[in-house]
Amino acid sequence: METSTSAQWEKFFNRYYLGDILALANEYPEKRSLFVDFVNIEKFDPDLAEELLMHPDRVLGVAEAALQSFDLPIEKTLSAAHLRIMDIPQKVPIRDLRSEHISKLIAIDGLVRMATEVRPRIRIAAFECGGCGETMFITQPSGRFIEPYLCKNSECGRKGSFKVNLTESEFVDAQKLRVQESPEDLRGGEQPQTLDINIDDDLAGIVSPGGRVITTGILRSYQRITREGKSTFFDIILDTVSIEMRDKEFKELEITPEEEKEIIELSKDPEIYKTFVKSIAPSIYGYEDVKEALALQLMSGIPKNLPDGARIRGDVHVLLVGDPGIAKSQLLRYIVKLAPRGIYTSGRSSSAAGLTAAAVRDEFGDGRWTLEAGALVLADQGIAAVDEMDKMRAEDRSAIHEAMEQQTVSIAKAGIMATLKSRCSLLGAANPKYGRFDPYEGIAQQIQMAPALLSRFDLIFVLKDEPDIGRDTAIASHILGAHHAGELHAHKTHISGSGITDTDIKDAMEIINPKIMPDILRKYIAYAKKEIYPIIDDEARNQLIEFYLGLRRQGEDRDSPVPVTARQLEALVRLCEASARIRLSNEITTDDSRRVIRVVESCLRQVAFDAETGKFDVDILTTGVSKSQRDKIKTLRNIIREIEAEHSGMAPKEEVFTRAAEQGFEKEYVDELIKRLKTQGELYEPTPEHVRLT
Ligand code: ADP
Ligand code: MG
Repeated sequence: METSTSAQWEKFFNRYYLGDILALANEYPEKRSLFVDFVNIEKFDPDLAEELLMHPDRVLGVAEAALQSFDLPIEKTLSAAHLRIMDIPQKVPIRDLRSEHISKLIAIDGLVRMATEVRPRIRIAAFECGGCGETMFITQPSGRFIEPYLCKNSECGRKGSFKVNLTESEFVDAQKLRVQESPEDLRGGEQPQTLDINIDDDLAGIVSPGGRVITTGILRSYQRITREGKSTFFDIILDTVSIEMRDKEFKELEITPEEEKEIIELSKDPEIYKTFVKSIAPSIYGYEDVKEALALQLMSGIPKNLPDGARIRGDVHVLLVGDPGIAKSQLLRYIVKLAPRGIYTSGRSSSAAGLTAAAVRDEFGDGRWTLEAGALVLADQGIAAVDEMDKMRAEDRSAIHEAMEQQTVSIAKAGIMATLKSRCSLLGAANPKYGRFDPYEGIAQQIQMAPALLSRFDLIFVLKDEPDIGRDTAIASHILGAHHAGELHAHKTHISGSGITDTDIKDAMEIINPKIMPDILRKYIAYAKKEIYPIIDDEARNQLIEFYLGLRRQGEDRDSPVPVTARQLEALVRLCEASARIRLSNEITTDDSRRVIRVVESCLRQVAFDAETGKFDVDILTTGVSKSQRDKIKTLRNIIREIEAEHSGMAPKEEVFTRAAEQGFEKEYVDELIKRLKTQGELYEPTPEHVRLT
């Protein structure tokens, strides 16, 4: 086997990196790294490149020594410079790391989930012999501390004790990261695996959780220690040679020219919008309006950076509230599969970071504080599907406002101060507190989310599980049809000579087969998000303004509630942009605005429509009671209070009905209001004939 030599590397540096080395020498020692493209080594000498991959410790040792003693035209030596190899060809997915990779130079692609504080690590420890005072230097690996066994002074030769002399020792900055597989590398719904990474010196402290990195390094293994002693199993960790941030240009899904042609062909279909919506979760029956909203969310609007430094999000946030067992979770999982980059998590996730971020102590067993990114940070530039959002942690409840609107997560704890990016769309699902949705109570209370938080969602849907024979039959046959197709498929796969043909299966699958298959739909979305930046035309703009003003006008009379806020206007714009993107069109027309107005209206109708006045009223969203209803309740309470005063504290119901009728309240309506006041604990019935306010 050949061995690389110092002379060889010198020649290489001279041929390819002379300019870079001179530039580095100018800024040395503030800058200490020479970044070398692997391709150049390969061009220079393929055998050397191969040897570097197979025996990185030895080869890098020689190469780095050659760099450190490089003959410079100025009076300087690069005695502590690092050689950082970049862009090696073989990236190993974290889940495919095997024992064959140990001690090899490999590259890992992933998402930083946790990062510790940067702290000094002893690199060369100076030991002083307690017996003779001899000093010994021992280079320390980035793991367990190595102490001398014997004093090297032959006249002494004692076994200790040895004291570490800190002033004589040498330290470097060090940091640990935990990197997990990127969501775009996971095939729908897989749980990501992680790898721990050591970073040294000038590379420490440059990445933060949520960042995307390519790390090149040498894979190490170390023995697991269990309570019973040393185990035969080893854990792995990567010692970094170079780390490259990929924050801006994240890895795109690869779209081949043929696929691009197919995508453009699809977009020419005049019915593409419908086809697109229909291709979302076809195995779930109904919910056309929800699926339409999810289609728009997958596309999302365009984030805008304004000249004054402000940023407006383009991401569309959607919330699904509703009874259990109506396919909310199923929809979420489906969207994560379709999104070019999606993360599925539950509000009561097991990780300390929850939905936003957390500073945790001792995660790596070394007492350091670690900043851990939560779901919304990890989903940066993608979609975060958060199930059971009603059960999120108290810390998330307050931090999520910032995460949704400013799309950052700030954390200041234990000396860690950081602002992480969370530029993602949020798709939330929430179950009402008492299992079932109560139309008489506010959504905010039922899912324990503050009104201010709810107002940050562009669209909220309330899904009710109301028995309806027509719909139930359809759902039943749909679900059974899907199961039947699955059964046929399983039967044919496992039982030979079943007589089931592919056509049988194809026919059975018909009802659940999407028009556009998920693989290509995913690429369609990625393509649109990358290539399409629609601009609104005048007519569509006027339509949006008119719709918005119409909603606001309902709040004009002094008595009526403020129905809709400017947030809804921004939502309209975002949704229009998404709608045009579905058509791969760079122009927003009235087709888009009309469609979006319909979606927003149907959503407002569900959550904020006061049937009594025929007006939209966001108060319903927050308190469950429209203003008109609240006024009536107030009137009724006053009536009861008056009667109580006249009847020494107990108001006869008959009297209440009579006097309420004088105010124009029907008896049934009064009855219903009394029931509501009772369930809310504002009133009780001391006898079946009397009521009393609490
Ligand atoms: P949730 O999260 O709302 O409590 P799930 O997503 O767990 O409900 O759904 C429960 C099951 O019922 C799933 O297997 C789902 O596929 C099925 N289901 C419920 N409603 C529908 C529907 N409309 N179409 C198809 N399947 C449905
Ligand atoms: Mg669920």
